[in-house]
Amino acid sequence: DLDAATAPLPSVSKSNVGHRWSDITSYATKKKVQSWFQLPNGNWELGRIMSTSGMESVISLPAGKVLKVNSDSLIPANPDILDGVGDLMQLSYLNEPSVLFNLQYRYNRDMIYTKAGPVLVAINPFKKVPLYGNDYIEAYKNKSIESPHVYAIADTAIREMTRGTFSFLKFGESGAGKTETAKIAMQYLAVLGGGSGIECEILKTNPILEAFGNAKTLRNDNSSRFGKLIEIHFSENGKISGAKIQTCKVVQCAEGERSYHIFYQLCAEKLNLKDVDEFKYLNQSNCYSIPGVDDAEQFHIVKEALDVVHVSKEDQESVFAMLAVVLWLGNVSFTMIDNENHVEAVEDESLINVAKLIGCNIADLSLALSTRKMRVGNDNIVQKLTLSQAIETRDALAKSIYACLFEWLVEQINKSLAVGKRLTGRSISILDIYGFESFDRNSFEQFCINYANERLQQHFNRHLFKLEQEEYVQDGIDWTKVDFDDNQDCLHLFEKKPLGLLSLLNEESTFPNGTDYTFANKLKQHLNSNPCFRGEREKAFTVSHFAGEVLFSLVFNFVIPIVFQRSMDDLTGPDICVTRVVYVTYDTTGFLEKNRDLLHLDSIQLLSSSSCHLPQAFASNILNQSEKPVVGPLHKAGGADSQKLSVATKFKGQLFQLMQRLESTTPHFIRCIKPNNFQSPGSYEQGLVLQQLRCCGVLEVVRISRSGFPTRMSHQKFARRYGFLLVENAAEQDPLSVSVAILHQFNILPEMYQVGYTKLFFRTGQIGVLEDTRNNT
Ligand code: ATP
Ligand code: MG
Repeated sequence: DLDAATAPLPSVSKSNVGHRWSDITSYATKKKVQSWFQLPNGNWELGRIMSTSGMESVISLPAGKVLKVNSDSLIPANPDILDGVGDLMQLSYLNEPSVLFNLQYRYNRDMIYTKAGPVLVAINPFKKVPLYGNDYIEAYKNKSIESPHVYAIADTAIREMTRGTFSFLKFGESGAGKTETAKIAMQYLAVLGGGSGIECEILKTNPILEAFGNAKTLRNDNSSRFGKLIEIHFSENGKISGAKIQTCKVVQCAEGERSYHIFYQLCAEKLNLKDVDEFKYLNQSNCYSIPGVDDAEQFHIVKEALDVVHVSKEDQESVFAMLAVVLWLGNVSFTMIDNENHVEAVEDESLINVAKLIGCNIADLSLALSTRKMRVGNDNIVQKLTLSQAIETRDALAKSIYACLFEWLVEQINKSLAVGKRLTGRSISILDIYGFESFDRNSFEQFCINYANERLQQHFNRHLFKLEQEEYVQDGIDWTKVDFDDNQDCLHLFEKKPLGLLSLLNEESTFPNGTDYTFANKLKQHLNSNPCFRGEREKAFTVSHFAGEVLFSLVFNFVIPIVFQRSMDDLTGPDICVTRVVYVTYDTTGFLEKNRDLLHLDSIQLLSSSSCHLPQAFASNILNQSEKPVVGPLHKAGGADSQKLSVATKFKGQLFQLMQRLESTTPHFIRCIKPNNFQSPGSYEQGLVLQQLRCCGVLEVVRISRSGFPTRMSHQKFARRYGFLLVENAAEQDPLSVSVAILHQFNILPEMYQVGYTKLFFRTGQIGVLEDTRNNT
């Protein structure tokens, strides 16, 4: 069995960096041509080839360095004229160093946006860049600026809205700028669709949800710990008529990081609270403040925003009271009352405050935290809790209150933004969700997040593949339809009933004696034959994911044969057949506990007995979300509350609702990239950027997209630039004739270009040939 568990998963080919000089023999002997050379530290440097003999080339690097290198290690660079092009599709040589350089060239000039075919790449500047605000919005609206921008995409979405609904989908690591990009898009939509006043409300949802759903982590000072889809509706006259927010929450704040912003903001305001460092839930890490952020000031912004979305002052007080309940609960302590480790809650300031704020009896609260009603056979008994059980019960109550509070807030916001009855079917959705995660140690949170990404992945694959097919049909290109397959196997592994990861997890979570160990064994027993699964030693298992590395990898697999049929240029070498799979090993420690909703019926009953309306609303919400109505004490001694939905099931439900909304939209893709790990401006680490570009298959997407005729140049420009290369004097002739003469003289093959009415269209790499000739003449 161990052998089977450690056998390697099916091997996969990795993508190559692109074409090397030796592949392009006609260039290998060219002198003075620019070329990329990789330094020992992995960075690329631009050099010029001085001479070539056999497999050896002599190149000169900046600062007068001259090196003799293996020709094979050189990668062609683009002519200077293509420096910093706005769309990677325009590059003659599409290889990793060229893409990296192009993005860096733009980044250094504060041009943080670049198109990569259908995808917008956004590199986080970590500083204010002069690209936003009303002047820019006006310019993009009037189309007086053409450089790539989120505004430009938002503009397209608005203009094409009559043809259906749209969505923006952003991907990127933590700290890459997804949330900021979402806000920038919302800003544009609010200005163009403004007028009704509802746009202000929509913008104000951001500070509220960020306060309650974001936290400072090691990777990002304002990290979203929830996924969000905001759907903005427009009326027939193009004005915003309402919006709807859906959220998808699984991530808990990790230990050693700051908790949700709102707690610190509340403490900064001193609403009968202690200092942050006196609350157990907040003082586990030494991190209390965020550089450059004033929590008290933020709290005022949140309160103002709550006013705008019509949360009454009274309700706001209740919200803050519930937050205080969570904080005080963390400070509730227990004392031993017998020799069997049973405990009762200490009646101190914390317990008294919790009871007061919830609006219940101190005695009832104390009982709910230290005992549990159960049904054994036909008898109802009251079981005393041990210290660890009591702590578990207390923490589960705090977590539930917070989760309910978040849901309640989203509900209030949605009421305020209500779309009204006259739905026009015109809407633009913006998705801001945590991206694929793979750390040294992966737990339940990563399991859920990666599953979500796998689901989203399928949506995009299908969409992009469909786009390709439509384009071929439109172009009348002869091709064979290929059946589209995707990451269905991996999704099956998660979703199959009864023998899938989620089902088995839920099943084991309901077993009183289930442990992480029995869960892991069960997985190995039932899933080892699945090609996407591998049991590991101890309590771990590995899943081969598609989502992580290549956003479009699967589309790519099937498009390749088509690309071969229709393109003869130098970039469709075999190295672009890529299937990238990423293996993530999950440690099942804590899986069952995190999946079980540990909130006991006693706690729910406590909330519903409250004299305040929020706790009551929370209790009925929890009961409504149960699979079956919860009545009376529980059936099984020591068992989890099996009637309640497990965390994973609830997550899956939210995810499916979200997918359903996306299903009917035309997506626009934005890939956010983090240029360094220090959240600092001006630093561009090639290795880090490259890794992210590879992850989402940006190069592959560009390659597919430009299998047509991506380089375009007007007859005039072409004739002016290359006319002097003609053997015969062409001065008096018209630009079109000159252009055609050039094409003939340089033996540009007919399948490499198309002559349009005003422009010439070229396959990739063709301008590179002419530029090299021009520079060497
Ligand atoms: P997570 O997955 O952790 O939520 P994220 O991708 O949503 O991360 P953001 O919170 O959007 O990341 O960005 C992190 C920080 O980067 C922001 O707080 C901001 O300081 C900076 N930033 C991102 N985009 C921009 C931008 N366009 N201009 C200026 N600063 C930016
Ligand atoms: Mg975010």
